[in-house]
Amino acid sequence: MSSARAHTNAGAWLEIRLDAVCANWRLLRQQAEGAVCGAVVKADAYGLGAARVAPALYRAGCRHFFVAHLDEGIALRPLLDTDAILYVMHGPPPGSEPEFVAHGLVPVLNSLPQLDAWQRLAHALGRELPAVLQVDTGMARMGLPADELEAVANDEGRLRGLALQVVMSHLVSAEDPAAPINARQLERFRSALARLPRARASLANSSGIFLGPEYRFDLVRPGAALYGVAPVAGAANPMRPVVRLRSKVIQLRRIETGTGVGYGHAWVASRPSRIATLATGYADGWLRSFGNRGEVEFEGRRLPVVGRVSMDAITVDATDVPEGQLAEGALVDLLGDSIGVDDAARAAGTIGYEILTSLGGRYARSYLGA
Ligand SMILES: *Cc1c(COP(=O)(O)O)cnc(C)c1O
Repeated sequence: MSSARAHTNAGAWLEIRLDAVCANWRLLRQQAEGAVCGAVVKADAYGLGAARVAPALYRAGCRHFFVAHLDEGIALRPLLDTDAILYVMHGPPPGSEPEFVAHGLVPVLNSLPQLDAWQRLAHALGRELPAVLQVDTGMARMGLPADELEAVANDEGRLRGLALQVVMSHLVSAEDPAAPINARQLERFRSALARLPRARASLANSSGIFLGPEYRFDLVRPGAALYGVAPVAGAANPMRPVVRLRSKVIQLRRIETGTGVGYGHAWVASRPSRIATLATGYADGWLRSFGNRGEVEFEGRRLPVVGRVSMDAITVDATDVPEGQLAEGALVDLLGDSIGVDDAARAAGTIGYEILTSLGGRYARSYLGA
């Protein structure tokens, strides 16, 4: 079979545990106590495959799904039953409003022009259209700023023809419970809600769920934590790991003291060494910043990445693995139970979100626990 053959020939294997995604969703729902728990599946479910992840979450009971782009919504809509609500967080690009109706997508309206265009379409169709209104409580990125919110609140006609389903906002620093901006945003969100017609209120992303009950409101929007990223910086991670990434040793070689490895000889052996070359590089999303900093795992032992990350390969120092234990063709863990996405992110100087969304297209992917 061609897919089995592709697997045999692949340089690296990415396993995605759908049962762990669903377990994480249930844990977040429980943590959110009483709030409806949605799921953010934008950017192809953070790189893990929305077409597999979203239907699995639907079967687990999730009915509120969030994507960023209209096209993500169009692609996902046929994969979910009609009782699933699919919100498009960027709202309609100008002129695309009829596509939202045609595909049964609910826009998040982020500006007065988006609001007005959606309302014009409702009038033209002669029926109410569902809408989410985003208010900006501190992100200064999307949503109505205070003055525009005021204009909407003071003009009853502004929302006429729209079925306002959700009023939402987004937290700036939710992963840091000590950040003073959290409480300021909570306060601004509450006063925005008080100025608008009744609708479901939604403020919390993954981390926001852990800030306390007052942040949870009616609907929570976790993304990263579903995929195993730690929701609270510096605290134990309650989420189950979702991804395992294994890469093949494609060459094993002995080098003398003083031998440089890879581009620019950015690492030079200070002892006689054994270097294993793995078939994963920055073209696979294994970031260049792992050079001389990252680690991989082989049978419980950490092996440091030595030298620069190449486009299709990395080199690791396997000198401390007992002779004969590591052979060409062996699989080495880049991500898994022991090296989590947050550990990898720390080594690369980034966040777990970027590790996940960078995972490349050359991996042989398999979905477990479907
Ligand atoms: C991405 C996103 C989320 C999910 O955030 P996580 O930190 O991944 O849980 C929620 N709301 C908005 C508006 C987003 O853009």
